[in-house]
Amino acid sequence: MSAFKTLDDLGDVTGKVALVRVDFNVPMNDGVVTDDTRIRAAAPTILQLAEKGAKVLLLAHFGRPKGERVPSMSLSMVVGAVEKVLGKEVMFVPEVAGDVVKQAVGILRAGDIAILENTRFWKGEEKNEAELAAAIAANGDFYVNDAFSAAHRAHASTEGLARVLPAYAGRSMQAELEALEKALGAPEKPVAAVVGGAKVSSKLDVLKHLVTQVDHLIIGGGMANTFLAAKGVDVGKSLCEHDLTGTANEILDTADQSGCTVHLPYEVVVSKEFAANPPSLRTCNVHEVAADEMILDVGPLAVEALGDVLKTCRTVVWNGPLGAFETVPFDAATVALARTAAALTREGSLTSVAGGGDTVAALHHAGVAEDFSYISTAGGAFLEWMEGRELPGVAALEA
Ligand code: ADP
Ligand code: MG
Repeated sequence: MSAFKTLDDLGDVTGKVALVRVDFNVPMNDGVVTDDTRIRAAAPTILQLAEKGAKVLLLAHFGRPKGERVPSMSLSMVVGAVEKVLGKEVMFVPEVAGDVVKQAVGILRAGDIAILENTRFWKGEEKNEAELAAAIAANGDFYVNDAFSAAHRAHASTEGLARVLPAYAGRSMQAELEALEKALGAPEKPVAAVVGGAKVSSKLDVLKHLVTQVDHLIIGGGMANTFLAAKGVDVGKSLCEHDLTGTANEILDTADQSGCTVHLPYEVVVSKEFAANPPSLRTCNVHEVAADEMILDVGPLAVEALGDVLKTCRTVVWNGPLGAFETVPFDAATVALARTAAALTREGSLTSVAGGGDTVAALHHAGVAEDFSYISTAGGAFLEWMEGRELPGVAALEA
């Protein structure tokens, strides 16, 4: 298990100042937060620190102000939503460092909470300048990172601070790291990975890493077409990156050498036009795709076979839908395999971890998001972790 400290390792923090990095980069419309999922994710950490009597200073970025004070990106706009989630009053401080923060700390009592201004209003944030980290740290006693989704970036508030203050993982960071460790770090074998989505090019490094890590690699979505083409299959009008067939073959070779079985669809759902329930819809063998047809989903028999693969596995990590799931009936394969994974997870025979914007949407669409062992909403950080990269924000916690 990784060597990072958690809130359980904190001693008496009464009256001490906690600098807590959270992800409050929430969707907003006309100054109103439209989805508070990320705020709710950070609530356990914030409330536990407040209960322990710390003065809690929240650090977060919002949007891309690029080192300038942009009023429309002020974190003051999330204060109301944060108060609502926490059920507590929250102070807003329009700086991240200096005397204004120092005075605020003087006013706060043990257990009080404040939000500091958008860290990206300062150029030193994205440049990870030591001066900015030191100036922020000057008003705090310890640092807690609860923003896994920002951990793939080495910024002052995600990495620099962990180098200059005693650093701890917050509860949602801890949950994410523990789930990811279980899925790929030290997973129960056999391990399957499901990788789908539109393009091979967007997930080349993910595929290259996974074939060396897992026992079964299930490839679906548009990217399967590139692999099929690499094997000499005529994929018709399908989304396909013909310039990447060489790379696809290299990945298949590496898989072979690593003892990873790659599962490509042998049966597919095709149509001549991309629309809901198109008249030309049909299911066929991959070798029977006509020149004017597109592969838009994995066929039902092939999905059943993929479900049988999952039944032999103890762990699955999933990124990317198997078909163009936003349009019926091209959601069928993704929904079916997701339900199989969910059922196996409920039975206790499978640990299932999934991530990626569209993947999470697809699992909600299938009605099984709750049944998976863990669903990561971290996006970029989740993908970089699937590429086997060290995330600077996590590395700094483990140092
Ligand atoms: P995630 O956001 O989970 O990482 P991606 O963004 O990589 O996933 O891929 C999702 C997209 O891939 C969806 O918009 C889906 O419609 C598309 N897709 C999946 N299969 C196909 C296909 N056969 N042809 C075209 N697009 C596809
Ligand atoms: Mg996506």
